[in-house]
Amino acid sequence: MALTGIQILKMLPKKNCKECGIPTCLAFAMKVAAGQIDIEKCPYVSDEVKAAINEASAPPVRAVKIGSGDATFLTGGESCMFRHEKRFENSTGIAVLIRTDMDEADIDGRINRFKSLRYERVGVIMKSSLIAVKDADGNQERFITVIQKVLTGAHDAALILISDSVDNLTGGAKICGDRKPLLYGATQANVTDMALMAKGMGCPLGVRGVDLDDTIDLTEKLLAEGLKDLVIDTGARSMKAALENSIVARRSAVKGRFKPLGFPLIAFPCEMTDNPMLEAMIASVFIARYAGIIVLSDLQGETLFPLLLEQLNIFTDPQRPMVVQEDIYTINGPNENSPVLITCNFSLTYFIVSGEIESSRVPAWLLVKDTEGLSVLTAWAAGKFGADQTAGFVKKSGIMNKVNHRELIIPGYLANIKGELEEELPDWTITVAPREAGHLPAFLKEWKPAA
Ligand code: SF4
Repeated sequence: MALTGIQILKMLPKKNCKECGIPTCLAFAMKVAAGQIDIEKCPYVSDEVKAAINEASAPPVRAVKIGSGDATFLTGGESCMFRHEKRFENSTGIAVLIRTDMDEADIDGRINRFKSLRYERVGVIMKSSLIAVKDADGNQERFITVIQKVLTGAHDAALILISDSVDNLTGGAKICGDRKPLLYGATQANVTDMALMAKGMGCPLGVRGVDLDDTIDLTEKLLAEGLKDLVIDTGARSMKAALENSIVARRSAVKGRFKPLGFPLIAFPCEMTDNPMLEAMIASVFIARYAGIIVLSDLQGETLFPLLLEQLNIFTDPQRPMVVQEDIYTINGPNENSPVLITCNFSLTYFIVSGEIESSRVPAWLLVKDTEGLSVLTAWAAGKFGADQTAGFVKKSGIMNKVNHRELIIPGYLANIKGELEEELPDWTITVAPREAGHLPAFLKEWKPAA
């Protein structure tokens, strides 16, 4: 169980010296318990106490790192069942499967799709993160050749190496060097050798149980061997059974603090059906319910994009709106006669408005006011986009030195603000239009500064 603030306070020196930057030891203890400050900030806590507190406050689903540098993928680190309770930490990684018995064109196609199927939305690059190389027939030379091809062809792919052979996984891990792959997977038949190998190579290890009980037995053995960075496959290959296992594993880890299941899960929709559309639907279930990694048989835009969008929706922090910085943004190279628009800093609004301006090809200035991530109408209702604040921002922004005219456009529905804003900015003409962002290109093409 996580420690309470009072339990942590009992372990502190109680000097109330403020050296941690917090006024009292009690306030510091409360912040440590809430995960808002690191225990290291108190210079008077002993190493034993630090270790005890860090152990007690570690997330119940361990965070596991795969790869390094540009090819780093972090999974796990979760501490809740539902994202509204706190937030989900590390989004589900989408991996594409490459088998060593595929021909070169199939392998190249998957590597190329891994590199090309990338999408930008609200300033976030959405993409698959991992490539899983499966040793289909035990041929080590072929396994190494394919791994090498992936290493050179996809520099930012975190790797999963799949084989029953400890020797083949060792050879694969060696050529991966610093790109420390996930080595998959330990079974009852090879668990001791796999543990030794993963320890020796310094790589995370995948666990492949037959069922949930077998998975628990395997992770207990690996924990006893001192391995910590594990990713678990509960063995089920029907969606229903795998989903049940997934929920039981997360609940046992989070609610029961049951360590043998306190690891990120890997799911294989690619082994649950031959139908690509059904595979994508199964994958969507495991993004919603607790898979740290899902392995797909291939990547296609029409199924990858919705999965990435689902991933983005589920793994954004519900308590922290996505925002862009308050600033003047230049779009299409504006000059002193270009239109001036203003909107809020809710990133979805910003990217929709800026995208429409960009596609109009009309040079424009876009003022973005800090509304703490609220949309225009909500911000106005909350008193963060009122006439006085908006006028104040326009004045201090410096836009008056950049344009010769005094015309301000507010896209959207905020007609109420027009009169008040004209009182606050008496030299300016305020236009509240167009109502829909999609009408901005036509509106801007017609816009001209008043003579
Ligand atoms: S530095 Fe340590 S002893 Fe000093 S106030 Fe902070 S928690 Fe208390």
